[in-house]
Amino acid sequence: MEEVYIKENIKAVEAVIAAECEKAGRAVDEVTLIAVSKTKPVEMLQEAYEYGCRDFGENKVQELIEKYEVLPKDIRWHMIGHLQRNKVKYIVDKVYLIHSVDSFRLAEEINKEAEKKNVCVNILIEVNVANEDTKFGTTCEEVKQLVRDIAKLPNIRVKGLMTIAPFVADAEDNREYFRKLKKIAVDIMEENIDNISMEILSMGMTGDYPVAVSEGATYVRVGTGIFGVRQYQMPNGKEI
Ligand SMILES: *Cc1c(COP(=O)(O)O)cnc(C)c1O
Repeated sequence: MEEVYIKENIKAVEAVIAAECEKAGRAVDEVTLIAVSKTKPVEMLQEAYEYGCRDFGENKVQELIEKYEVLPKDIRWHMIGHLQRNKVKYIVDKVYLIHSVDSFRLAEEINKEAEKKNVCVNILIEVNVANEDTKFGTTCEEVKQLVRDIAKLPNIRVKGLMTIAPFVADAEDNREYFRKLKKIAVDIMEENIDNISMEILSMGMTGDYPVAVSEGATYVRVGTGIFGVRQYQMPNGKEI
């Protein structure tokens, strides 16, 4: 297997984030790097942890739980993948933030399970800004009503928006989508809905995070750029 220099990679990503913040007149601590560790073994996460990473992103419930069990408890786990309602109960008390809420039914399920465990769950609304058929996420037209509805659920706090931009050769092509997500967040903020904040914008991945930072991202989700390319099979193949 190809050697991956995790600490050097993180340092390089942080340098790019700092440079983009500087250019955009933003404070560098406005942006948090999430190390997207899906499919990667615990040893690699440990190395990122030793470097100082405390935010990790996973997209499968079972994998998140397995890693949660064995890694230090001060890690903030981010659920960034599509979440099925029947799996919500396994993670509501383990995750720091769920980035991928795109329906009221899913929000209701999170609220129900959060109530049972007596916790309040922080979530983001996933928006399919580019309207791609292949992507989850609510639409730009529906997101505001969805936020207003979810605001009424007592055990959920909406903290902002997330998007997965199209896979493009030139990251500049995604600038308009990052800008659009930011604009939607500003519009929602202006409604002053109780229980809602729009302080988080989760956008930007290995291919386009510099552009996302320059357009206002507060979380960037970087996998390949830290841990190297992914092999897609799960180590044990099964899911909860
Ligand atoms: C896998 C994944 C990422 C990271 O993708 P890279 O291109 O490897 O940086 C970011 N966000 C989500 C939602 C993902 O599923």
